[in-house]
Amino acid sequence: MATDTDCIFCKIVAGEIPSTKVAEDDDTFVFMDVNPATRGHALVIPKRHTQDVTTIDPADLATVMVKAQEIAKRAEQALGADGVNLLNCCGSAAWQTVFHFHVHVIPRYAGDGLTEPWKPGQGGDAEVIAAAAEALRD
Ligand code: 5GP
Ligand code: ZN
Repeated sequence: MATDTDCIFCKIVAGEIPSTKVAEDDDTFVFMDVNPATRGHALVIPKRHTQDVTTIDPADLATVMVKAQEIAKRAEQALGADGVNLLNCCGSAAWQTVFHFHVHVIPRYAGDGLTEPWKPGQGGDAEVIAAAAEALRD
């Protein structure tokens, strides 16, 4: 199992740092975020250390996302969440602070006070959109 000795999430998986565990299997570990955005905010991680969504093995990514789906359902069924946000941050510019891939499962409750990270505007510049699409194509 790939681990990084300096990584706090690897230490959590190894039990070297305490966490509030929700679930564990051969490939994934689910635990509560220590600074929850809402009640029930959990993190789903691969046990194998990898930095972010650009580096994770596709099979591990699929396994983590299926586990996140399970936890999202539990949030609605067991916590009474009205909705759920799944969030991944990749890179400091995108708010990543712990560099071991993780998916936030954030239960949402009507009137919980969280705000959107952006508000859709009146429509973007069509040329800029098209140029970006061209760059994204193979
Ligand atoms: P990021 O900003 O990288 O997307 O999210 C990192 C998350 O990890 C944050 O929401 C933060 O509260 C959580 N976190 C950081 N250190 C610890 C820790 O030691 N234990 C737990 N349970 N969560 C942590
Ligand atoms: Zn790690």
